[in-house]
Amino acid sequence: MHINDAIFLEDLCPKFRFRQWRKSIHKFTGKSCIYCGKPSESIDHVLPRSQGGLSTTENCVPACLSCNGDKSDNNALYWYRKQKFYDPRRAMAIRAWLDGDLRLAIRLLQWANPRFKNKKNINYKVIDNKFHAA
Ligand SMILES: [Zn+2]
Repeated sequence: MHINDAIFLEDLCPKFRFRQWRKSIHKFTGKSCIYCGKPSESIDHVLPRSQGGLSTTENCVPACLSCNGDKSDNNALYWYRKQKFYDPRRAMAIRAWLDGDLRLAIRLLQWANPRFKNKKNINYKVIDNKFHAA
């Protein structure tokens, strides 16, 4: 998608686009929290909006309400390291996600949670025009 097309679409129906984008974020992890693996009920801004964090795929991860609330405005990786459910594979996944490498992030999450099965037909070229992993 050309960047101008994306901007046009956003102008046309920002709410619809936002909803689709949120859905696609949750799909990546099979609707599980990137931090603890419980059902993801929210989207967490890794760099909080209060600190200038943007609503881009790289900065937004699926999280359960408990993790999202507990993490609050802390640095995500620093906060995560202190949690009882800390898993270095998940920490690596979060880092890969922040780098925009969702494919690697998902592989690491699958490694951390063998029960998590990601559907093969996932569309990696998300609606978010900033995401270009292929
Ligand atoms: Zn969680």
